[in-house]
Amino acid sequence: MGKLTGFKEIERKNFNKRSIEERIKDYKEVYIPLEEEEMKEQASRCMDCGTPFCNWGCPLGNVAPDWNDMLYKGQLEKAYKRLTLTNNFPEFTGRVCPALCEAACALGINRKAVSVREIEFTIIEKAFAEGWVKANPPKVRTGKKVAVVGSGPSGLAAAAELNSVGHEVTVFEKSEKIGGLLRYGIPDFKLEKSVIDRREAIMEEEGITFKTGVEVGVDIEAKELLDDFDAVILTGGSSVPRDLKAEGRELKGVHFAMDYLSQQNKRVSNEKFDEEEINAKGKNVIVIGGGDTGSDCVGTAVRQGAKKVYQFEIMPKPKEERDDTMPWPTYPKILKTTTSHEEGCERDWNVITKAFVGEDGKVKKLLGAKVEWTKNENGRMSMQEVPNSEFEVEAELVFLAMGFLHPKHEGMIGELGLKLDERGNVYTSENGMTSVEGIFSAGDMRTGQSLVVKCIHDGRMIAKSVDEYLMGDSFLRG
Ligand SMILES: Cc1cc2nc3c(=O)[nH]c(=O)nc-3n(C[C@H](O)[C@H](O)[C@H](O)COP(=O)(O)OP(=O)(O)OC[C@H]3O[C@@H](n4cnc5c(N)ncnc54)[C@H](O)[C@@H]3O)c2cc1C
Ligand code: SF4
Repeated sequence: MGKLTGFKEIERKNFNKRSIEERIKDYKEVYIPLEEEEMKEQASRCMDCGTPFCNWGCPLGNVAPDWNDMLYKGQLEKAYKRLTLTNNFPEFTGRVCPALCEAACALGINRKAVSVREIEFTIIEKAFAEGWVKANPPKVRTGKKVAVVGSGPSGLAAAAELNSVGHEVTVFEKSEKIGGLLRYGIPDFKLEKSVIDRREAIMEEEGITFKTGVEVGVDIEAKELLDDFDAVILTGGSSVPRDLKAEGRELKGVHFAMDYLSQQNKRVSNEKFDEEEINAKGKNVIVIGGGDTGSDCVGTAVRQGAKKVYQFEIMPKPKEERDDTMPWPTYPKILKTTTSHEEGCERDWNVITKAFVGEDGKVKKLLGAKVEWTKNENGRMSMQEVPNSEFEVEAELVFLAMGFLHPKHEGMIGELGLKLDERGNVYTSENGMTSVEGIFSAGDMRTGQSLVVKCIHDGRMIAKSVDEYLMGDSFLRG
């Protein structure tokens, strides 16, 4: 702890944002980082707690107090090395992580938490700028071959870890480019895709082979991988979206959020797509689902020039501050207002969609109603429609952003006959092995939809299990 009184003297200051007027004209990242000197001040707010709850809150177990102190003292290369001991891709989490560490930061009890995510961003971007982030191929190869299916954060983390200890890793990806939802889900205004390309180049130099445009279970048989590789890790994500049962669901103009977001991300990257164009320009847009995916649709529709954007959520409006039901250091489910919401969107909660009304097969209106939630005697929430609360809103585009159910079962999972858990995700034993010997799974495919940081952690843990499976022991941290 470099500055004993930092937390008392210095207020939290966040990255600036480009003006709304400017940023909605393009898809570039919204935030403008602070200068290094200002970030050193921010790092000095860390109290270097004896029991660092930030470290407990972070799924990766990031040692934030160490690198906060190193940044404050100007030891940035050392900070970079400490950061990458626990996190393979701080440039991803530094941009899109909801910062579970900050929710757990002890300073957050009666002041604003240390800006851990922005400190992480500062360290990793300095490391790239200074050329400290270099390919570090293993000195010795083990002669073992591992196939990773899927190149989202869990697959990439598993690949990086296993390659680092000398296994020969091939990543199979069905899309044209690697990254999973980092590339095709999360919009560029949160994470520019050059950030993924930059990491891919390093991983290739380290010896990892990427085979893109190959869907395992369709283009090649999944069983082939068992013959050609000593171990296989399935990291295909959770891709089956939750649908809405409502009259008029089949009308043109009602889409799943991911069909919309992936198309726009491809457009930004000049990647071709065959699907019919979905564009919000001049349209009234309704996003159903109040989470991150919904918010990403809002920001995208605003950038495309939508006339008006609404976001409806069936659950009640979250509280604005922590209360007794979500005490420190737990992650509080409080109202989140994203940069996309700031850009122009009308939000409402306790809303159900009763039907879509169309003309000539195209959606024209949403018929909704208000609901209220009560707790029954078992403490379970139940929902009732508020009498006479029906309303209608004009809409030429509707996006369903209500989460994902489980991975696609047809193809790879079906062909391998993998056991599923009760939610339809790939079942694994404690070490991450599926019901088939030698085949492991990591990330959303086995845990259900989660977060980038949790997927990096899962990829690292499963890589350690695979290393143990192949070598009998492992030096990987997990
Ligand atoms: C729109 C959206 C926004 C999000 N925003 C955030 C955010 O801001 N912060 C955050 O922390 N999390 C966010 N998330 C969640 C996060 O992106 C995911 O939890 C995470 O990417 C899952 O990682 P994964 O490695 O398990 O799989 P994915 O990222 O889903 O990647 C799986 C990959 O496997 C490939 N694949 C699947 N089957 C096959 C096959 N048979 N053969 C070859 N390849 C295959 C897919 O093409 C895909 O590239 C968001 C999710 C969405 C949908
Ligand atoms: S909990 Fe907050 S103040 Fe304490 S060590 Fe972690 S970042 Fe620093």
